[in-house]
Amino acid sequence: MGNDSYEEAIAGLKKLLSEKGDLEGVVAGKIEQITAELQSNHSKAFNPVERIKTGFIHFKKEKYEKNPALYAELAKGQSPKFLVFACSDSRVCPSHVLDFQPGEAFMVRNIANMVPPYDQTRYSGVGAAIEYAMVHLQRCSLLGKTLWWKRHDQFKSLGQVKNIVVIGHSCCGGIKGLMSIPDDGTTSSDFIEDWVKIGLPAKAKVKAEFGNLPFPEQCTHCEKEAVNVSLGNLLTYPYVRKAILEKTLALKGGHYDFVNGSFELWGLEFGLSPSLFV
Ligand SMILES: [Zn+2]
Repeated sequence: MGNDSYEEAIAGLKKLLSEKGDLEGVVAGKIEQITAELQSNHSKAFNPVERIKTGFIHFKKEKYEKNPALYAELAKGQSPKFLVFACSDSRVCPSHVLDFQPGEAFMVRNIANMVPPYDQTRYSGVGAAIEYAMVHLQRCSLLGKTLWWKRHDQFKSLGQVKNIVVIGHSCCGGIKGLMSIPDDGTTSSDFIEDWVKIGLPAKAKVKAEFGNLPFPEQCTHCEKEAVNVSLGNLLTYPYVRKAILEKTLALKGGHYDFVNGSFELWGLEFGLSPSLFV
């Protein structure tokens, strides 16, 4: 956050407080109390700066300095074999769960591990990550950055990213949110529900097939079905279709259950003739 916007935020807060004159004393008192509690807790139990520092020191000593060849190679560039979509949930980091090492997996994490359909306006963040993994990484590794402006379809895809894996997980709050959107589609959040609506086809399928099951079980089905919707949405990206046609890319779905400590992996059978992809 730049200084300007920070100052704007403080000014906005002051304005809000002055408008609510009768509440000012109460609010100011509460803020002081919370600040004091936070400071006291930090000094006693948790110091975020110290946590980050010790974390990095551990990594540097145990990983970085023990693998000089790997990090020397990574200093030259990256050629990850996986593009992974995973949820933002703090319990499901794929580098931990699947033991991905630096350089192995290009990663996108968002609420409910959704891949939206190709849309340059609404979903440019995810689109940029897919384009980067499927087009730019190849080009860099094959030809150098100087050929960035060349049209990617002049080059045969060598599939630097060989697999795209979309990984759902147990107890996903985003999927629960999707399953909880009322039938009339009304939403009450700024971003979350609109985002997870990408998985509406999965919700419809689960409601039709498993609507009689208890809600938590419906959610588990939807966690997996939403992965399939994302795999389907990947086909709306031309670089993905091209690589699949050239047989240099495979799409996989996964589901990590951290309650039972299990991981499910499946492939996607398109059942479509290649002509439909071009
Ligand atoms: Zn989740």
